[in-house]
Amino acid sequence: MSGKPPLRIGLIGTGFMGKAHVFGFAMAEKVFDLPYAIVLRTVADVTEEAAARAAADLGFARSTSDWRTLVEDPEIDVVDITAPNALHREMALAAIAAGKHVYCEKPLAPSAADARAMAEAAAAAGVVTQVGFNYLCNPMLALARDLIASGELGEIRGYRGLHAEDYMADADGVFTFRHDTAGGGALADIGSHALATAEFLLGPITQVMGDCVTMIGERPDERGGRRAVEVDDVGRAFLRFASGAQGSIEANWIATGRKMQHDFEVYGSRGTLHFSQERFNELHLYTTADPPGRRGFRRIEAAPEHPPYGRFCVAPGHQLGFNDLKAIEVAGYLRAISGETAEPFGFTAGLRIQNLVETIHRSSSEGRWLAVPA
Ligand code: NAD
Repeated sequence: MSGKPPLRIGLIGTGFMGKAHVFGFAMAEKVFDLPYAIVLRTVADVTEEAAARAAADLGFARSTSDWRTLVEDPEIDVVDITAPNALHREMALAAIAAGKHVYCEKPLAPSAADARAMAEAAAAAGVVTQVGFNYLCNPMLALARDLIASGELGEIRGYRGLHAEDYMADADGVFTFRHDTAGGGALADIGSHALATAEFLLGPITQVMGDCVTMIGERPDERGGRRAVEVDDVGRAFLRFASGAQGSIEANWIATGRKMQHDFEVYGSRGTLHFSQERFNELHLYTTADPPGRRGFRRIEAAPEHPPYGRFCVAPGHQLGFNDLKAIEVAGYLRAISGETAEPFGFTAGLRIQNLVETIHRSSSEGRWLAVPA
């Protein structure tokens, strides 16, 4: 026994992210000195069979096909939502009403109004929240932010962000929850990550000019029919930052050949940063402090000097993996629940991203620059 107080988890959804969260819980306990002992109490999925299988595979004590019984269980402290986007609001509000802390996958909700209702309910109830913007947990992003804040790159003038993958490139790929007009589309699905990274590095975006396009207007559905797709396959936006910097982001889920191109470049008057999630243990730095004739991008490899990398591995260059970012996210969340730190990326931060997504969509349909609501 660890002697630490238990923190009992109820997980809803056991797909890609449900599993990633469980790996995150398991790794966080081994790697960090957490304030709680994590107890995997109950898991919920759509059928009793699927939930029971997940409980056995992932190590939960109980399972259910009814997420409401999980939410209402007095022996659960944290409700962890990894179900499709359109369900986030209903599940989170029920969990908050039951007094639970809520960990919810991104995008926080189908609309900014939904996200606002969730953020306000959480604040009123005094529960601690977390949204799954795991890419922000990468130590190389913290290094990039430090380099920008320190002035080493000089005045920051430009930003280019991209999140490109090809999981929707096949026009015969089936219609999924990601195509649902409630919370779907490339901009909400992966552009939300690109926007979170842009603001993490450069601060608030004040104005946007969007261009969101549907390239595959119809897909097969699960019953053998066809279904119209109305959401964007590609969402682009020009950005103006409060700092005076300007830039752009692109969210593209039909980028044939790209698997995880969550990339950015930051251009300063004295230096530039380049990063790609496909090689996310590296940050590339160009600095004019190097003498002419010796200038070029320097590859900085993730190392124990970039916390919390050293907790995972004592040697540089051995690399973190995707699920390790979830472990870092979990550790930050548990510290916030214990009161040690503020919420690293709670529902209010999730609402902010939703506001950006919605303003870009609106700007695209109206064909003009729009101010982002504060
Ligand atoms: P998925 O389809 O792999 O998993 C969804 C799970 O929810 C499935 O197990 C499904 O059966 C279950 N589910 C659906 N309806 C349910 C209900 N009513 N009750 C209980 N369970 C239900 O999807 P995914 O890729 O894991 O995506 C889930 C969420 O995670 C989405 O919000 C998505 O945007 C987010 N996501 C985040 C990241 C990230 O990097 N942070 C990556 C992928 C997905």
